[in-house]
Amino acid sequence: MLESLKKMFSGNEGDMPVSTGSKPDISREKSAELYEKAKNYFPGGVNSPVRAFKSVYGTPLFIQKGDGCFVWDADGNQFIDFCGSWGPLILGHNHPKVRDKVTEVMQNGMSFGAPTALENELAELIIKNNKFVEKIRFTSSGTEAVMSAIRLARGYTGKDKIIKFEGCYHGHTDSLLVKAGSGLVTFGETSSAGVPKSFAQETIVIPLNDKDAIKAAFEQFKDEVAAVIIEGIPANNGLLMQDVEYIKYLENICKENKALLIFDEVITGFRLGFEGAAAHYGVKPDIVTYGKIIGGGLPVGMYGASAEIMGHISPDGGVYQAGTLSGNPVAMAAGIAQLTELLRSGFYKELNNKASEFAESIQRFATARNYKLKVFHVGSIFWLAFTDKDKIQSADDIDPTSMEKFKVLHRELLNRGIYIGPSGYEVGFVSAAHTKIELEKAKRAILESLDVVFRNK
Ligand SMILES: *Cc1c(COP(=O)(O)O)cnc(C)c1O
Repeated sequence: MLESLKKMFSGNEGDMPVSTGSKPDISREKSAELYEKAKNYFPGGVNSPVRAFKSVYGTPLFIQKGDGCFVWDADGNQFIDFCGSWGPLILGHNHPKVRDKVTEVMQNGMSFGAPTALENELAELIIKNNKFVEKIRFTSSGTEAVMSAIRLARGYTGKDKIIKFEGCYHGHTDSLLVKAGSGLVTFGETSSAGVPKSFAQETIVIPLNDKDAIKAAFEQFKDEVAAVIIEGIPANNGLLMQDVEYIKYLENICKENKALLIFDEVITGFRLGFEGAAAHYGVKPDIVTYGKIIGGGLPVGMYGASAEIMGHISPDGGVYQAGTLSGNPVAMAAGIAQLTELLRSGFYKELNNKASEFAESIQRFATARNYKLKVFHVGSIFWLAFTDKDKIQSADDIDPTSMEKFKVLHRELLNRGIYIGPSGYEVGFVSAAHTKIELEKAKRAILESLDVVFRNK
């Protein structure tokens, strides 16, 4: 055991012993019982669809508590967690600084519907350390931030059409719940019942990483496009890394056509670095949206831009946007505590190094074993893709049949105490709370599970 651990550190993952095979299922009785109950109350038993475990084996685990990089379910099983509440928990679960600040602020009441000093404090933390926003507005979710950013872009430019990319998710706002039809440049087809066709007609959907497509879209809809919206780095449908040059091309073509470039950084904001994907690429989007990490685990979203663009938001300007709980003091407190930690010098360097070492060691193992697996990663985000392609840059590059392998991987990982998002299209997150020891344990579990996945290849 020790000998093989040493080998792992030295990078000879190919020499790892072959696993003992599939592990027996952990006890999931209490979770299953809770799920049966929940189905009486909520559609599919959940309050957000992917939680329902529809793409993997078994029923959802009901989580009872989290601490550091661990979560415990209702049956008392302990897991090393790489879901991190889908991204917000960059410091890990229940970080003492966040918990203490929230507890302190809560003593004064939960909500006032009037300004508080805490909003100024979080805004100052962000604006002082982020060259992409001069003025901001807090919302209560990422969806709301994106919805408002779209309205702002339309109000500011006086144009209606939006260009979005197949494979990018921007929350569940009507005009963005659209998918590509057939053809290079298409009007969106609604991807949800209840979204009027006429709304989807205002959204043009094109493939990622394709200059001809965006060029054709701007030619076809000349002077009609208010904004192009893209995820900082698309991370909701696999991790679709874009070339810097392509993103710069987007920036330029937007300028030429007087359309705004919206960076939806709800995942990548404060994740790749304090200034998100915009700084990572070295481009300057016109509007950025944040969510997830910004609230330290409580519901916060934000959109921001230059003072000039933000001047169009009500009450200064004519674009209406509001929120009863926007800037909620308890949520602001969590954001302040979390973002303060992120600003410590060396924070991102240490986290990102740890995460890339983790991802690359899994890759070395898979390569040595000739397994059809690629571990795509950036910052502390990683994605396990069952493919032999060196690059996956658009939604079309993903082979849907590879998800069968993910199902097996997911079951094997749960049975070895590793929790990851219950879909092969979801990325994983390494947090600052994952120590080298836990990453080694997780790596070993992943390697063993891969042996099971590929046993009959
Ligand atoms: C999660 C996410 C959203 C939606 O945020 P919610 O807080 O779930 O409404 C929007 N855009 C991106 C890129 C996201 O990852």
